[in-house]
Amino acid sequence: METALERTLTIIKPDAVRAGHVGDVVKMFEANGLRIAAARMATLTRREAEGFYAVHRTKPFFESLTAFMSSGPALVMVLEGENAIARLRKLMGATDPAKAAPGTVRKLYAQSIERNAIHGSDAPETAAFEIAYFFAGIDLV
Ligand code: ATP
Ligand code: MG
Repeated sequence: METALERTLTIIKPDAVRAGHVGDVVKMFEANGLRIAAARMATLTRREAEGFYAVHRTKPFFESLTAFMSSGPALVMVLEGENAIARLRKLMGATDPAKAAPGTVRKLYAQSIERNAIHGSDAPETAAFEIAYFFAGIDLV
């Protein structure tokens, strides 16, 4: 398989922060070849959550999703590693935790299809947009 050093954006969502799973999830990143290149705790404003999930603005769950995402502190991080985008998506598990594979973040920690513990960029273009949405170049180590 071809490999490429990539960066991706992850958010440990408010449900998982509230439940005290930050350390467990970060441990999974580090155990799976994902190095932390930037990190910031933030309670997103409603507007920030709406901008971040703008591709979903026409979905029936958009109001509820953006209310949830701005409901408390989240940990926003840039992760770096070989094939980091696909690697993180695999580690996260399916959007619906009922369908997530054993051992994935969502299988372990998600509460529902909405309160599903973690976000990860789904492609190089979205990773670039999402990293720039939260971090300046100077923030990346
Ligand atoms: P994310 O973008 O957060 O990494 P994802 O790529 O697995 O998740 P998307 O389809 O992009 O899934 O949905 C974005 C988020 O919207 C989901 O992670 C979840 O929090 C919420 N969501 C998705 N589908 C539903 C649904 N049917 N009902 C409620 N919330 C949903
Ligand atoms: Mg998505």
